[in-house]
Amino acid sequence: EHPRRTPLIAGNWKMNLDHLQAIAFVQKLAWNLKDAKHDVAAVEVAVFPPFTDLRSVQTLVSADKLPIAFGGQDVSAQDSGAYTGEISGAFLAQLECKYVLIGHSERRTLHAETDEIVAAKVTAALKHNLVPIICVGETAADLELHGPSAVPVAQLRTALSGVTNAADFVVAYEPVWAIGSGQAATPEQAEQVAAQLRLVLKETLGQDVADKTRILYGGSVKGSNIAGFMREPNVDGALVGGASLDIDEFSSIVRFQQ
Ligand code: PGA
Repeated sequence: EHPRRTPLIAGNWKMNLDHLQAIAFVQKLAWNLKDAKHDVAAVEVAVFPPFTDLRSVQTLVSADKLPIAFGGQDVSAQDSGAYTGEISGAFLAQLECKYVLIGHSERRTLHAETDEIVAAKVTAALKHNLVPIICVGETAADLELHGPSAVPVAQLRTALSGVTNAADFVVAYEPVWAIGSGQAATPEQAEQVAAQLRLVLKETLGQDVADKTRILYGGSVKGSNIAGFMREPNVDGALVGGASLDIDEFSSIVRFQQ
């Protein structure tokens, strides 16, 4: 068991739910969690809506003091200026985002984000007091060529190049072959890579950082498989895509202990 790390269940909405749908969704989710006597201190819940929803989600969460954290799905490596279409970490921090996803596999593949870009974004997020959720993971081809942990380990090493041991961040291990495929990794596979990633944290930033930093598993997580992942000593939560868009399913993931 890992008593010092509060589990984090994070919902990555991707490009789904407009700001009106987001308000309805967050209200229902909060109600659902309250109804189920979700222990707020025991599991942290976060949602990652599209940028255009963040102001609405902030207003709702702060007005009703909802126990739901939120963040952006990406952030610019720059602070401000002539970067059409980009969103600065300063803007996210001003909207009370706690977290930001960085280096999701869809950003890496569809937007050509390299490990170096990911590292620059991690540094930018920390500069603006956001907690980066650094996403790493191997493709099916990587798995065949290099085995399970080589690629995620290399990705994490580069992503941490500008990070000091005072930084607060989260790592999400998401095998690309498991994302949106319905074919989740087994808890054993997730644990094997998570343990290697924790070793990287220890080697680069020291034992304290390795002990306190949460490592999430992501890739086809749902209510029926979450418990297995959460039993693994190095898995501290989940990054959930598809199943985070269904309030009942997402709530059942949050309540993995019951
Ligand atoms: P999935 O997505 O849960 O739909 O597999 C996970 C993710 O992309 O973060």
